[in-house]
Amino acid sequence: MALASAQPGPLTKRKLKLMICDDSNIIRRKIERELRIDCLQVIATASNGKQAIEAFRKEPADVVTMDITMPEMDGIECVEHLVKMKPDVLILVISALSDKATAIEALKKGANGFLCKPFTDRQLTEALEELLRGAGNVD
Ligand SMILES: [Mg+2]
Repeated sequence: MALASAQPGPLTKRKLKLMICDDSNIIRRKIERELRIDCLQVIATASNGKQAIEAFRKEPADVVTMDITMPEMDGIECVEHLVKMKPDVLILVISALSDKATAIEALKKGANGFLCKPFTDRQLTEALEELLRGAGNVD
């Protein structure tokens, strides 16, 4: 029955909004292309922290992938702003290994996970699943 299938239930979890933030167009496209998680829907991409905040004000994402090294505003400062605007936002820092100390700082500011560049599609999926599992969004 059409009506029954339209009812919200455990099998029809709502889509989570994803924003991708990285100053590299190649990385942004890679994340978008390799995204294998059905409940995530890309609603915005940003190439620096300022753009990310602007997009987030217009439509707050539930999940964010966040680069660290970017012009205008870096990922550390951006994480701090996003968490202030929406304390339950889930942020996965995706950054080069050389940025690891900085990434740890981002975690202290309220980011929820960390993935090293370069990464495979499988590593991206696993990192996002872990992020969502930690928040109780994936079984
Ligand atoms: Mg960068």
